[in-house]
Amino acid sequence: MANIAFIGLGNMGGPMAANLVKAGHKVTAFDLVAASRDQAKADGAAIAESSVAAVKGADVVVTMLPAGKHVLSVWNEVVPVMTKGTLIIDCSTIDVESAKQAHALAGKHGMLSVDAPVSGGTGGAKGATLTFMCGGEEKAFAAAKPALENMGKKIVHCGGAGAGQAAKICNNMILGISMIGVGEAFALAEKLGLSHQALFDVASTSSGQCWALTSYCPVPGPVPTSPANNGYKPGFASNLMVKDLTLAQDAANATGAVTPLGKHAQEIYKAFDAAGHGGVDFSGIIQHVRGLAAK
Ligand code: NAD
Repeated sequence: MANIAFIGLGNMGGPMAANLVKAGHKVTAFDLVAASRDQAKADGAAIAESSVAAVKGADVVVTMLPAGKHVLSVWNEVVPVMTKGTLIIDCSTIDVESAKQAHALAGKHGMLSVDAPVSGGTGGAKGATLTFMCGGEEKAFAAAKPALENMGKKIVHCGGAGAGQAAKICNNMILGISMIGVGEAFALAEKLGLSHQALFDVASTSSGQCWALTSYCPVPGPVPTSPANNGYKPGFASNLMVKDLTLAQDAANATGAVTPLGKHAQEIYKAFDAAGHGGVDFSGIIQHVRGLAAK
């Protein structure tokens, strides 16, 4: 079992750190927020006074933070004081450029590093069923895999530095676009007098089939576990979808990729967010689509 430092104990990091404790690791944790530290303590982690104190004696360091600036700030603090050869894994969703800068910093100080953003949300974090999309050298990935297996079900090595973040934003761009498409189809069906169930029965076994329809249907009924059956309580909040679509647009602009639907999807979720629905599950975008018709 390893000595693991865990920095960033929010909605995702808290339960992920708890799963590392459950797996038998000695976890030393830190977060800026006292309530998150208290919860981690209750879950069996030792609490450090700072990020720098947390990484002392660690074999593995994990960060789970809001955005690229937080990751670079924490990595700039902790990497220089870590023992040479230590593994550092960032599980946050951040821009590809910051991820590459973080890897470069770790490499400069002789550390192994992996970018390992996740899919699966807070349910996956609690249940240790997350998917990890990893970027980094083969040796670093191999070293990271056992700890990631304690927090997730599927661990994929996507390529070199930043490849995990690249996979994450490309996947979520598909998701953001396809959820709007499914919402538009149900909104049109409603106008045509076609029942939700009839559209679902046809499209779920036809060429319109996709995850947004069959696993996360944006109308109540056909998929009982989807947030539509629960007042669009997240799930995956719309403001997080805005974040990921913005990262995708930043990457498209930086590389010259042409993603008109990704851009339009970003604008649609941004408008939904600006109307005060940032905390609503992203499948609630169907309400926005219906609202557009009324205008
Ligand atoms: P969160 O805001 O709940 O948690 C982030 C934590 O980081 C907070 O507790 C905050 O206090 C802490 N923090 C910020 N700066 C810090 C610093 N300098 N030192 C120590 N702690 C610091 O966010 P979350 O929902 O746990 O998400 C974390 C990351 O995972 C984000 O990048 C997010 O995009 C990604 N993600 C979230 C979900 C989800 O469903 N919530 C799903 C997939 C990916």
